[in-house]
Amino acid sequence: MAKVKLTDTTLRDAHQSLIATRMRTRDMLPIAEKMDDVGFYSLEVWGGATFDSSIRYLNEDPWDRLRALKNTIKKTPLQMLLRGQNLVGYRHYSDDIVVKFVEHAAETGIDIFRIFDAVNDIRNMEVSIRTAKRVGAHVQGTVCYTISPVHPIPLYVTMAKELEEMGCDSLCIKDMAGLISPQNAFDLVKALKEEISIPIDLHSHCTSGMAPMSYMYACQAGIDILDTAFSPFAWGTSQPPTETTVAALRGTPYDTGLDLFLLTEIKKYFEDIKEKYRGILDPISERIDTDVLKYQIPGGMLSNLVSQLKEQNALDKYEAVLAEMPRVREELGYPPLVTPTSQIVGTQAVLNVLMGERYKVVPKEVKDYVKGLYGRTPAPVSKEIVIKVLGDEKPITCRPADLLPPELDKVTKEAQDLGIVKKPEDILTYALYPAIAPKFLRGETKEETLVAPSNGKSVEPLPSEFKVEVDGDLFSVRIISAGGGMSVQPAESQSQKVMDGAITASMQGMVLKVKVKKGDQVSKGDVVLVLEAMKMENNIHAPHGGAVKDIFVKEGSTVGAGDVLMVIA
Ligand code: MN
Repeated sequence: MAKVKLTDTTLRDAHQSLIATRMRTRDMLPIAEKMDDVGFYSLEVWGGATFDSSIRYLNEDPWDRLRALKNTIKKTPLQMLLRGQNLVGYRHYSDDIVVKFVEHAAETGIDIFRIFDAVNDIRNMEVSIRTAKRVGAHVQGTVCYTISPVHPIPLYVTMAKELEEMGCDSLCIKDMAGLISPQNAFDLVKALKEEISIPIDLHSHCTSGMAPMSYMYACQAGIDILDTAFSPFAWGTSQPPTETTVAALRGTPYDTGLDLFLLTEIKKYFEDIKEKYRGILDPISERIDTDVLKYQIPGGMLSNLVSQLKEQNALDKYEAVLAEMPRVREELGYPPLVTPTSQIVGTQAVLNVLMGERYKVVPKEVKDYVKGLYGRTPAPVSKEIVIKVLGDEKPITCRPADLLPPELDKVTKEAQDLGIVKKPEDILTYALYPAIAPKFLRGETKEETLVAPSNGKSVEPLPSEFKVEVDGDLFSVRIISAGGGMSVQPAESQSQKVMDGAITASMQGMVLKVKVKKGDQVSKGDVVLVLEAMKMENNIHAPHGGAVKDIFVKEGSTVGAGDVLMVIA
């Protein structure tokens, strides 16, 4: 039995799962060389949510991060997670953008592309796989693992064979929600091993607590590579720990041969880093949660869900949203829950609960999904939902990207007209994130400050808030009473009582587009504004016809739930 190799995910999935993808490049670089010395099969350092998070919250150029890591990590292949036709965004991009992105990522330092599609529709992976192969990169074709009445083992085997035939160099079983049981892992790996000859990687999460056991069973079935993270960023909704896995496999036929002392040194470093981020480390992400077996929510999604609900001041709805999710998933044809389907199902579930009526508000992404624009769903979408969401429109059956005209020239011109292109890759950044990239590329994005963890000691109530700098990171420290004697006063409502004809934001978000001007005549149902909330676009409709009397927001404004957006007389 060959030795088992490890892919370390600390610099990508682990912090995406535990601290909402907020680890800074400056916290990665000091340890990168040591990580390079370990002898990992690869280091997963890029892709997934790291691109979005860097420009949205960290004021960091993701391309610069990749270059900096590549300059430091010279021996170990660098790996990224690529969402097929969605790249590192949340919608399908045209083929010319996909080609350009993959080429540039390879040029900038990605050696291994782990490519998946959320609904396991290989048509959505074709262009990125072909491009990555053409530029000489290693392609790890991926099957998203999920449990449903329409996901038997032979389905994964068929898909894996197709990926191998397309030229994939290895296969990843992506168990993003930590659902795979030891026996299922054994059976699946064994079945795959009988049919394909490329190496197989098992990627799991500890969410349900089964992952370490499933890894052991996968070893017994002949797995080649396992995904782990350094222990301070392991467990919970993240991967099993690297050091533990290495120690557990020692002296077995699956021995990784990695140096436990070196690993312990690196672990110490990440222990300190974790302390810096403790303020954003949610206990919900850190714990083992067997409910996931019921809800099937991947690691990253859980911590995002918590922060979304916090933003909407609705953390008390957490359980209700969790219960709504399997219902929505079934109605939508049992998609595996992974970006972007996890956002699609998750956001619809959040809206169904917050609005008090199911499918009362349906974001554009959910409509597109039902229309087939994200690919073929594992099972058909429920007829009732298709009618409710699409009305008379018919879903498509072709490869979704076949409907997308080339976009590169158009976005290039747009970006140039905006005056935000300083280097060619800025065009790609803009193409992927047209709503937030301009602000970032103009240098107007402020790095989010870290919230200092409360240390549990009682403190004087004054001063109540100040900023403090630790290792170059600005922490916003808020002192709260530890005695429980404090009461929270609701802030004086600024919204002009109940204004006639006022349209208010139903949730916290950012104004993407204002589609009307003061004085315009609108009819009932017209889209007057597009609000980006929970990373989805929501059309705001005129509740009645009339003239636009006043507009209180502009494109790019951040609004809170209940804020008045405009008034229609
Ligand atoms: Mn993952």
